[in-house]
Amino acid sequence: MKIYDITPPISSQLVVWEGDPAIELTHVSHLEHGDISTVTALRMGAHTGAHVDAPCHFVAGGASTESLDLQTLVGPALVVDVRGQTQITAAVLESLHLPAGRQRLLFLTDNSTRRLLADPVFHRDYVALTADAATWLVQYGLKLVGIDALSIAPYDQPQATHYILLQAGVIVVEGLSLQNIHPGAYELYCLPLPLVGSDGAPARAILIESD
Ligand SMILES: [Zn+2]
Repeated sequence: MKIYDITPPISSQLVVWEGDPAIELTHVSHLEHGDISTVTALRMGAHTGAHVDAPCHFVAGGASTESLDLQTLVGPALVVDVRGQTQITAAVLESLHLPAGRQRLLFLTDNSTRRLLADPVFHRDYVALTADAATWLVQYGLKLVGIDALSIAPYDQPQATHYILLQAGVIVVEGLSLQNIHPGAYELYCLPLPLVGSDGAPARAILIESD
């Protein structure tokens, strides 16, 4: 059994979405300063690093992160290679001839080739899922979709892709570090913090490959 960590390390160097708060890890006390213990304080947006989007991120009255279904967040997942595509459209999905009945798909894109999540600078020209691709995935019956970008949606069209997926109850996982992952079948464990009332939550996400 091999475990792959697909969670980018969280530090002040980790890229954040344009306009989101910077990540701050500061010490409120420290052994080196004569305190009896070292304690870190954390300040960051809920959509930092590997994280999930809850329905209420784009759907008014939608569920928040603490109520996302663990049955969906854990289970067999397929890492799908869409490197070479500038966007993931319905036509691209059609061309992949995906096996029927998969509940969890993670898209490995040129974002990983470019190591965008390892670059402290935010780039707007990342690969994402178009609205017609979101509709395609809902009709396919998907329960969870993941991507190696800070957003599942194109930079200039954030609303439709998110709304279609979240409205349909698809869990969206963003900010996955997939550059060392081969396409194929794994067991996904994606465990977001149960932040009550929050539209997003950071997660530790791992893929397990069985022998
Ligand atoms: Zn998000």
